[in-house]
Amino acid sequence: MTGIQDGQARDQALAAMDPDERALHLAQKRVRAWHPKLTMPLPGDHERASQTMRWWLAGAGHPDAARAYAVRHYQRSRRSSNTGRGPDGEPMALLHRERWDYGTLAHETAHLVRDHEAGRQAGGLPPPDGTHGPAFAGHYARLLDTISRGAGDDLLAAYSAQLAADREAG
Ligand SMILES: [Zn+2]
Repeated sequence: MTGIQDGQARDQALAAMDPDERALHLAQKRVRAWHPKLTMPLPGDHERASQTMRWWLAGAGHPDAARAYAVRHYQRSRRSSNTGRGPDGEPMALLHRERWDYGTLAHETAHLVRDHEAGRQAGGLPPPDGTHGPAFAGHYARLLDTISRGAGDDLLAAYSAQLAADREAG
């Protein structure tokens, strides 16, 4: 899942997060600022946007790659992005309406790759190293690199630095 509202709730939310969640969130924010291509809007046409996702999933060996699709959240009130399953079990990325961009699609696609790798079924337990743990970050980094060269290394460097800073503080 991605997305934290700006405003007063943000600091509280950050403090309440697991170290991995916080590190990923902060690293992602930095990398999106450093690599403008990550915030490039996806094509308005869902079919065309889904092609990118299918290509990524196929590259990662996901068995349902060809059936995957990406949509914007139908409900305007949804303030985050998430993965899901379509009516016939198709892997889906449901993106925040204001985050219809390549970087967010890569984030949700990386969850699908990691969940498949960890043998996670819809609604099942999160992967053993956490939803936004190191294995997720590795998949996400590989996808980000296909959008903007170096973005993956930048993400992993910021992620590790944040985890190290947290360890030092705690
Ligand atoms: Zn996520």
